[in-house]
Amino acid sequence: MNYLGMDIGGTAVKIGLIDPQGTVLCKDSFPAAFDGYETPLMQTALRSAELFMKNHDIDPAVLGGIGVSATGQIDSRTGIVVGSAGHIDNWLGTPVKELLQKQYGLPVFVINDANSVAVAEQWVGAAVGCSHVIVVTIGTGVGGGVLTDGGLLTGSGGLAGELGHFPIQVDGHACSCSNPGCYERYASASALVRMVRESYTALELSVPVEQIDGRTIFALAADGHAGICKLLDAWIGYVAAGLIGLTHIFNPELILVGGGVCRQEALFIEPLRRKVLHGVMPRFGESLRLKAAALGNDAGMIGAVRGLI
Ligand SMILES: [Zn+2]
Repeated sequence: MNYLGMDIGGTAVKIGLIDPQGTVLCKDSFPAAFDGYETPLMQTALRSAELFMKNHDIDPAVLGGIGVSATGQIDSRTGIVVGSAGHIDNWLGTPVKELLQKQYGLPVFVINDANSVAVAEQWVGAAVGCSHVIVVTIGTGVGGGVLTDGGLLTGSGGLAGELGHFPIQVDGHACSCSNPGCYERYASASALVRMVRESYTALELSVPVEQIDGRTIFALAADGHAGICKLLDAWIGYVAAGLIGLTHIFNPELILVGGGVCRQEALFIEPLRRKVLHGVMPRFGESLRLKAAALGNDAGMIGAVRGLI
């Protein structure tokens, strides 16, 4: 019996048909932010699911259930969005599980997107066979999931693993969660872009400031642009600082780094690994590995389906 996996994110709703071994059989992506969320994200998700099943000739009656990986703070027990640190209107309070159950009459499991990535990587990705893992996803923000003693750390309200929101600068930039200096304000890909834009004049770049993004920055670093390399090194220092702290708290055997930037092995993953291993207390580094996550954009939907099996 196959499962429907949905990944409801701020920019896209990704949907796939997934078999019981965690293989994605077919998938599609649907835009989510086309009218600034005036159309509620959940309405877009429900419509996308209908369209996906129609396009791929899938009869919901033969599915084993629907696994949903969703942005924001998700109470997995109720399947309700209980917090939304981002800026998605009409999303907080959405009863994701109830709405899908009503539409399809199938078992539904809902999980926070970054936690879902951790579960997926342990199931069929880069953390197979590992029991103590920190997964950190670096994108617009920083998300995470912590696997401890083989299972996902959930916390008292199912909210654990918000790795983007602990302070690394007491007087730092204000975060979307309203606290100053959160990790994601310094270690996200958006933070790297902000750092480069703030130094734009001094860097004497030929690229227009509005075209600076992660891809441009890594391309300039690959070309050996000294100013960019220096900023990149400072940014990797922020990413490492958080991971060093988390390593001391959770004593993982493996740190997986996800998000688009994790494809930069030589310019990001390798120097990050060096900084983390250099910064942790010796015993914590002895068996610690740090590498890129393996499942990319499919991880969310795969991990959510795992919750049904
Ligand atoms: Zn925060």
